[in-house]
Amino acid sequence: MKTISPVFTNAPKLVITAIDCHVLLAPDFDPGMTSSAQDSFIVEIHTDGGISGIGESDANPWILKACIEAPGTHTMGLAIKDILIGQNPMEIGEIWEKLYVGTAMNGRRGMVIHAMGAIEMALWDLCGKATGQPVHSLLGGATRDRIIPYASLQPAGHCFEEYRDALVESALNAQSLGFRAIKSEVTMNGPYAHGGMNETYDRHTEVVASVRKAVGPEMTLMIDVQYLWPDAATCQSIVCDWAEFDICFLETPIWSDNIHELAALAESAPMPIAVGEWLATRFEFQELMDTAKIGVAQPDIGRVGGIGEAKIVCDMAKERGMKIVPHCWKTGVSTAATAHLAFVTDHCQFIEYLPPQLCVERLRRELTHDELVLKDGTIPLPTKPGLGVEIDWDVLKKYKVA
Ligand SMILES: [Mg+2]
Repeated sequence: MKTISPVFTNAPKLVITAIDCHVLLAPDFDPGMTSSAQDSFIVEIHTDGGISGIGESDANPWILKACIEAPGTHTMGLAIKDILIGQNPMEIGEIWEKLYVGTAMNGRRGMVIHAMGAIEMALWDLCGKATGQPVHSLLGGATRDRIIPYASLQPAGHCFEEYRDALVESALNAQSLGFRAIKSEVTMNGPYAHGGMNETYDRHTEVVASVRKAVGPEMTLMIDVQYLWPDAATCQSIVCDWAEFDICFLETPIWSDNIHELAALAESAPMPIAVGEWLATRFEFQELMDTAKIGVAQPDIGRVGGIGEAKIVCDMAKERGMKIVPHCWKTGVSTAATAHLAFVTDHCQFIEYLPPQLCVERLRRELTHDELVLKDGTIPLPTKPGLGVEIDWDVLKKYKVA
């Protein structure tokens, strides 16, 4: 099985001694919201050399913790924690395969893979810290000196006018912060409907038009409708009129298991279709790429199974002439991992970036001290070892619930 391991010489000899799992939750979280940034799952991997690494994943944090800590009962349902203890953390690819095979009867997709994503991310951070190198160096070396983040805008409001105006205001704020690209959610209906709204599809067009008008023609604009439409024909009947808004890509217009409808839409829509935020492993992406033939693949590093698995997905996209724009709606830990991947992936057009200044999520704003800075609408190459992100442990303790 193909796996990705760090590139280095003279790595110190280390042994994994302990795993700590942290379930974090904002005390004022609103279960009626669809923002997964209200919680987080942070994993720490410790070694006998005193060096540790941190990782994160974006799925229910209690379940992720159980995926790692639950005892194994047979050889194809081993405990992730037990597999890890005693391993050499530098052998990331080998460890990933051991976890994948050893948890086969519990995993192969879904939550176990999402948990493995946090573990694998922490191993890269650990290896970087142990060798004094940033993760992008361990991935073979950066191929560019800056990447472009797009500001992911968070909606607000309780009715159409408030919702539209909040997105326009947020788009203008992102523009004044220097962002060259923004993505607006436009979801007032369907499974992700903001605040239980139930607006017509025409009103979605109105919001897209308002945001485009506000930011002007130079700003790159993506639209995320979060599984709004039941099928390709319904979607096409609306978005056929969106060509004038110059949409860089349309994200998740249809449920992502609805592969054949996605394929029909990818052929007819006037803009590229982007999908992939929920997917686990290269195997799920293969179907999305080869059957649905989408234009933009959006692996989320934690959910897909880690940095190496995301890299494999990036390589698959390249072979097929598709773009990569990773999903990331989490704290600075995942944002850093996403940036390192982008620095070694030339066909990664943008990375998703939740600007701490614009989002309401405390964990995004408070949990980490990020190395990444926005300069001229771009992020310059990070140079610190590992992911280059520091957890504020007081904040972690404050929001830790399990
Ligand atoms: Mg999305």
